[in-house]
Amino acid sequence: MAKEYDVVVIGSGPAGYVAAIRCAQLGFKTACIEKWLDKDDKTVYGGTCLNVGCIPSKALLDTSHKFAEAQHGLESQGIKVGKVSIDVPAMIERKAKVVTQLTGGIKGLFTANKVDGMAGTGKVTGKNQVTLTTHDGKEEQLQARNIIIACGSVPIEIPPTPIDQETIVDSTGALEFQEVPKRLGVIGAGVIGLELGSVWSRLGSEVTVLEALDDFLPMVDRQIAKESAKIFSKQGLDIKLGARVTGSKAGTQAKKPVVKVQYSDADGEQEATFDKLIVAVGRKPYTSNVLDSSVGVELDERGFIKVNEYCETSVPGIFAAGDAVRGPMLAHKGMEEGVMVAERLAGKKTQVNYDLIPSVIYTHPEVAWVGKTEEQLKEAGTDYNVGTFPFVANGRALAANDAEGMIKLLADAKTDRILGCHIVGPSAADLLQQMVIAMEFSASAEDIGLTMFAHPTLSEGVHEAALAANGHAIHIGNRKKR
Ligand code: FAD
Ligand code: AMP
Repeated sequence: MAKEYDVVVIGSGPAGYVAAIRCAQLGFKTACIEKWLDKDDKTVYGGTCLNVGCIPSKALLDTSHKFAEAQHGLESQGIKVGKVSIDVPAMIERKAKVVTQLTGGIKGLFTANKVDGMAGTGKVTGKNQVTLTTHDGKEEQLQARNIIIACGSVPIEIPPTPIDQETIVDSTGALEFQEVPKRLGVIGAGVIGLELGSVWSRLGSEVTVLEALDDFLPMVDRQIAKESAKIFSKQGLDIKLGARVTGSKAGTQAKKPVVKVQYSDADGEQEATFDKLIVAVGRKPYTSNVLDSSVGVELDERGFIKVNEYCETSVPGIFAAGDAVRGPMLAHKGMEEGVMVAERLAGKKTQVNYDLIPSVIYTHPEVAWVGKTEEQLKEAGTDYNVGTFPFVANGRALAANDAEGMIKLLADAKTDRILGCHIVGPSAADLLQQMVIAMEFSASAEDIGLTMFAHPTLSEGVHEAALAANGHAIHIGNRKKR
């Protein structure tokens, strides 16, 4: 007889595991199916984020930042270190340990919350039926009052550069290099390309980033994108804009594999040779085999599962969340969607505020933003004030020898309500979060200006930017009125 559940979740990434735990907390009998196997063929929970995404990339960003600092950043503070070297396999090993600790943590959370973790592939085969195919090929039917599909996404491949995970790798392969490539090519100057490019650049690679678009970080406020580009170039990333990759050829140099990459730019056809090439041209929903067509759940032309603002699909009782549905492919967006679906199943009125999804690039300095950019406000014809504050005027940033970048705050000229915040600078992600909270409570720039901030902190920069928006920064914040 089929096992019966109140909720069956397919996928245990941030959207799926959070949905499953919240469902169980709310009293639903819940199962979560996961197909991911680690190198020892053991089931691991946590999806892209924990296994090959957010967490391992941040582990390598942290190690490489410390390495770069030890190499170049300490002498000005009077700290003399001898020759600094990097043991790449040890760095990769530590990253793997962090991943194992966290994926094991999800397993523990499933047990503690009484979620039935199930190993294998799930497919929705009926309105209330999920077929589980275990790794040894056996099929089991699960009866589900509700189904949450959280099957995530996979890297996009492009025909000119087929992935072999040796010389031409995707983001997953780029987390596993066993030595520092001398010449590293990165296709795509998006979030993932910039983060992974930074890791290997700090460890000594000559990094060239090939980006088809003419604009750098088109989704980011132009002023902040320009400032970020300046900082990244100074760090040694050679970012070529308007450079579309059209082909590649494998070869050898000094008996080592290399790849010759063809690309076209404003000057015509170009070629560059790299020891490794990372293809970071975006991700696509992984939805090709999770739904039987007879069920009637609709996909859009790009493969995203169609949902409304509550993550309801076209079939009642079937929900989808995370990277598999519209919206930015971010772990925290998926987690909040998972919570929303669980709580609405329990009769609560939970919503996700899609207007306030923070975005972060975890380079050093970080780039972080939320709400409207100046360009979007101009386009909408909104009157606004701008307050900016450079970190070079922040005592704590200077004391920490980490004073590159700026904070930019946009407020409505009539109501003073904060409409957007854009930061490139130290701890930008954590500073931004203060503004996400403020904006969630519809705060005005004046509210932030009237709030007391501890001294000396980086957060004082947020205070100054808010004061600057209303023309009375104490230090050197600037106001621009439109
Ligand atoms: P996923 O995490 O992709 O999980 C889906 C899970 O479902 C997988 O485990 C998969 O095996 C499983 N699955 C799929 N189909 C089935 C099936 N039929 N049966 C059983 N199981 C199935 N986001 C951030 O917010 N911050 C970051 O810093 C960040 N850094 C990133 C760095 C990199 C290198 C990459 C690649 C991504 C990064 N992301 C980051 C994006 C983030 O990882 C994703 O947005 C997030 O993981 C999406 O969560 P999800 O639950 O929708 O899907
Ligand atoms: P993201 O979607 O943020 O991860 O960014 C991926 C980037 O890759 C985008 O900015 C694309 O413009 C870029 N891109 C896609 N295809 C190519 C290509 N063939 N050559 C160079 N850049 C590309």
